[in-house]
Amino acid sequence: MTARLIDGKARAAALRMRVAEEVAALKAGHGLTPGLAVVLVGADPASEVYVRSKGKATVEAGMQSFEHRLPAETPQADLLALIARLNADPAVHGILVQLPLPAQIDEAAVLGAVAPAKDVDGFHIENAGRLATGQEAMVPCTPLGCLMLLREELGSLAGLDAVVVGRSNIVGKPMAQLLLRDSATVTVAHSRTRDLPGLCRRADILVAAVGRPKMIGAGWIKPGAVVIDVGINRTPEGLAGDVDFDAARAVAGAITPVPGGVGPMTIACLLANTVTAAARANGLPVPKGLTA
Ligand code: NDP
Repeated sequence: MTARLIDGKARAAALRMRVAEEVAALKAGHGLTPGLAVVLVGADPASEVYVRSKGKATVEAGMQSFEHRLPAETPQADLLALIARLNADPAVHGILVQLPLPAQIDEAAVLGAVAPAKDVDGFHIENAGRLATGQEAMVPCTPLGCLMLLREELGSLAGLDAVVVGRSNIVGKPMAQLLLRDSATVTVAHSRTRDLPGLCRRADILVAAVGRPKMIGAGWIKPGAVVIDVGINRTPEGLAGDVDFDAARAVAGAITPVPGGVGPMTIACLLANTVTAAARANGLPVPKGLTA
């Protein structure tokens, strides 16, 4: 058996097209142009690339992009003052502070300063709490993208056994909340989990968000399972996921490649979240298919 390939690139392109249509409709119907502000502190080369591609994708979707680049030595108070201005700016519907931040800045304080309604990364504690309690929230982009891929692949997730490997606030925990909300039976595994291969082998849905290249082998996968590989690991041979793709493909029912799987969905979901935030800010219904 060879697993179906879940083409994240194609699905992300389709989502970006949907976003662009909704942006055009908001402009034509309500004179509303969604706007996304991205804040970069310092000149980390990987962050530079992310910020540039986010800005480009924002403009391509017909939205307004506001880029704020601050020097690496920026005091925390100056960054907080900028966030306060963006919180108050009605043209800005989404605010993203690119991580990691320089050492003199307290990441939690900065993420907590973003107005929850504009928190398109979904990292504010209020949004995490809303997601956990089943209320309307801004949902973190990477797990939202994974959920969309899973729903397209499986339809209903109700009653399926899901294992999420990784418990970060950015991926693992919100992923587990989303799966639970869709009535999967969810187990969250981490570095202290016993018999991880045996646990993973029980999963109809296996989400890997660890950061260890090719850790998950064929023997960890239930035949026919849907495998979502969030991992992005730089190796001497190039980018690798957390799943040993070539081996897993012979066992799984469907699998995301790396690159070209979850990565492209993340940025498409950022755009979708910005439209969601703009619609909510103006008392308009959130377009279907853009959020969880
Ligand atoms: P973190 O480092 O924050 O979390 C990693 C998690 O994996 C932790 O919960 C850790 O457990 C667990 N873990 C580490 N080693 C093992 C092990 N040997 N066995 C079982 N669990 C283990 O990473 P992130 O969640 O931020 O990211 C995970 C991966 O996803 C990375 O490769 C990252 O690059 C990628 N990523 C990709 C995105 C995309 O757009 N595709 C977006 C965000 C991340 P413990 O808590 O016990 O330490």
